[in-house]
Amino acid sequence: MSIYVRVAVNIAQLSGTFDYQLPPALQGRVQAGSLVTVPFGKQIAQGIVLNTIEEPSVPEIKEVSGLVVPLPVVSPLQILLAKNMAEQNLASLSEYLDLMLPPGLSQHVDTLVRLLPAPAVEQGLTPLQLRIVALLQKNKEMRGRQLDAALPHVRWRESLTGLVKGGLVSTEPVLLPPSIHSRQIRTAALSLPEDGALRNLRGPTSGRKPTAAVLSRREAVLNLLAQEKGPVDVSMVYAETGANAADIHALAGMNLISLGEGEFWRDPLREMNLPLERVPVLTPGQAAVWQVLETQFAVGASPKLNLLVGVTGSGKTEIYLRAVEAALAQGKQAIVLVPEIALTPQTVRRFLARFPGKVALVHSRLSPGERYDTWRRIRSGALTVVVGARSALFAPVPNLGLIVIDECHDESYFQDDLHPHYSAVESALSYARVADVPLVMGSATPNVEQIYRARREKWHELRLPDRILAHGSQSADSPSDPGTLSLPPVQVVDMRTELKAGNRSVLSASLRQSLTQVLQQNEQAILFLNRRGSATYVFCRDCGYVVRCPRCGTQMTFHAQADVLLCHICGYRRQMPKKCPECGGPNIRQFGLGTESLEKTIVQEFSGARVLRWDADTSRFKGAHDLILDHFTQHRADILIGTKMLAKGLDLPLVTLVGVVLADVSLNLPDFRANERTFQILCQVAGRAGRSSKGGKVIFQTFHPEHYAIRYASLHDLDGFYEEELALRQKTDYPPFSRLLRIEFRAAQAASVEQAAGEIGDKFRQWIRPQHLEMIGPVPCFYSRMAGIYRWQILLRGRKFYPFLNEHPLNTWSPRNVQVELTADPPSVL
Ligand code: ADP
Ligand code: ZN
Repeated sequence: MSIYVRVAVNIAQLSGTFDYQLPPALQGRVQAGSLVTVPFGKQIAQGIVLNTIEEPSVPEIKEVSGLVVPLPVVSPLQILLAKNMAEQNLASLSEYLDLMLPPGLSQHVDTLVRLLPAPAVEQGLTPLQLRIVALLQKNKEMRGRQLDAALPHVRWRESLTGLVKGGLVSTEPVLLPPSIHSRQIRTAALSLPEDGALRNLRGPTSGRKPTAAVLSRREAVLNLLAQEKGPVDVSMVYAETGANAADIHALAGMNLISLGEGEFWRDPLREMNLPLERVPVLTPGQAAVWQVLETQFAVGASPKLNLLVGVTGSGKTEIYLRAVEAALAQGKQAIVLVPEIALTPQTVRRFLARFPGKVALVHSRLSPGERYDTWRRIRSGALTVVVGARSALFAPVPNLGLIVIDECHDESYFQDDLHPHYSAVESALSYARVADVPLVMGSATPNVEQIYRARREKWHELRLPDRILAHGSQSADSPSDPGTLSLPPVQVVDMRTELKAGNRSVLSASLRQSLTQVLQQNEQAILFLNRRGSATYVFCRDCGYVVRCPRCGTQMTFHAQADVLLCHICGYRRQMPKKCPECGGPNIRQFGLGTESLEKTIVQEFSGARVLRWDADTSRFKGAHDLILDHFTQHRADILIGTKMLAKGLDLPLVTLVGVVLADVSLNLPDFRANERTFQILCQVAGRAGRSSKGGKVIFQTFHPEHYAIRYASLHDLDGFYEEELALRQKTDYPPFSRLLRIEFRAAQAASVEQAAGEIGDKFRQWIRPQHLEMIGPVPCFYSRMAGIYRWQILLRGRKFYPFLNEHPLNTWSPRNVQVELTADPPSVL
């Protein structure tokens, strides 16, 4: 009987699903999720088997040519997830399946070039062809990539055709072998119970008696192995006991230990020794939330989707920990997403401390080997709690039991800088649905779209309205209840009034006074300014000329320390001009304020204060985030000046004052989410103050004290903000009342990108039926040039884009010399 399979094939430009026949040799070995090789045109391609089928969709059917690895690389649930993601993002299935493949296993097709035995016919060959032949004479056969390396910046492929036609070389497609292998190590394990082994070691042995030193080494080996449950890497045994290979072999010869081979796990957590975390008794508020969540681990419970809205410091993380515990108790695994590991060290540490030995950390700093090992340990079920940034969602857990998304409002959950585009939050939702497991999304400031959806789809909306008094005296009457703490009061300072009163400083009288007080009382303060550098821009007071990045067109920022102007979009640098390039006048100066110049002001005004700066400039090196945070937590600095990294859920008990130096920074960007972002970041930053019984206060400095985002943030009023923002979105027909599809055009020439966007805009205008879709643009993007690339965009607004894109597929209208990017539900339209 013939067996057919449907395979998702991923070849640049040509990805799709195709049917193949399974040859008898592969029957019973290939299943859904298997990574196979298949003939594709004249090439060999790699693909993932989606399912078996009864009838192939085409009459002429080719055979699957091979199985790459014995076990399936994606689970049936992951296939479903990938399908949903492809649909959601209007892109191809195999791109999403690729996200789930272990790194290094996704192979790429290459060409194998061989020299044929032929008489020396070197006349008529070009110099390049002669070089190729010479290379092949030395190496016999070479892969395309090896030729690339041997002939850098040379277009050798074009010269190859002539050589093939002349019968001098042959080419054939090959797949590169997987680039990563597991490492094998030698292991040792105790083969008797410890006391028995020790007795035997000291007992009479035939042959020469070992010396006392040798005996004690061997004893140490047995002691060490007795402490370990399973086999131990032999090199570790050597290192810990001073024993050598002769000792190990002697012990093995006496049948006291057994030697073996094991897989070596490159474990990034090896060096981390964390104290076990004490499990606290839940507060009454947490207990109420947990009661709702707990029941969802049962089969058939519905719904299993939860939005956990809890103010900063209300104990959300403890709820996540309980939920993970419940999933593990069912023998399942949990996936916990955090915005970025380096920026959320406290949260990550709590998971590591609560579940020692069970946590897989998935993040971008893992080496390829570590990544592959982590992937395999997750798949084998050895690691049961996966913690990581957005891509951790695709970890190959064998039996998913829970998904947690911490700080679910965070923008980093959307991948739009790389392909394929996706929202980890949307994907997690879809995954939780197909796997029928609880999903807990938590935040102090969920997006308006998230709240709207949770209510419309009748999720559980769980609330933790009170802060836990975690640092301070336990309340005496109830030792199990740490007590609650109110959110810090926020004072809004109108900087226009300050100016009128003659205060030209960046610090209002009130903020200055509060800082003085904090320093006197030996407490800590945070100053937040969402802007790096010393100045927002450099301009000529005489003619108004502004220094802009020649590649991006954005205003350049002065960095005093390096004495250089920097473009924050593309990194372009230049010297500060001595005179105005436009009018030649001498009055070209920096204007505005960034973290670096703020630091200077503070150091000048508060001599003796220990000031620390935390922004992209000071945290570039590896481990910097941890270092800065540790330094501050240990009170080795008094004032921490920082950008938006401060908004990521840090628990800093000594901080009693948070000053937002300019609350308006992100308010006036042309993005419909700008107000929401401002509200969120203000709430989050304000939430860093007053974590202990010492209390705390917050000051917002602003030129727009009446703005609703600032007003509601100053009142910690999420519901108020939600109502007003939602009404505005409805009035202007923005999400969640519509969906957006962004079509972005990029090219190195301003004229070609403008022309392409214009022409396509004209086509769209004819194609679009206004009752279904509306077109906004074409317009230049807000960041109209990035790293020398010009950008234009069209936004389509509507509810469904598939009908339109099916009728007018991308390849029928995308221009030749201009790159087109589609992003469904873009997180930013700048
Ligand atoms: P969130 O995640 O909402 O910001 P956390 O879970 O970090 O809040 O809790 C804030 C502080 O309260 C932490 O220091 C945490 O250890 C502590 N905490 C949480 N739950 C309890 C509890 N039930 N009993 C005592 N302390 C708690
Ligand atoms: Zn630039």
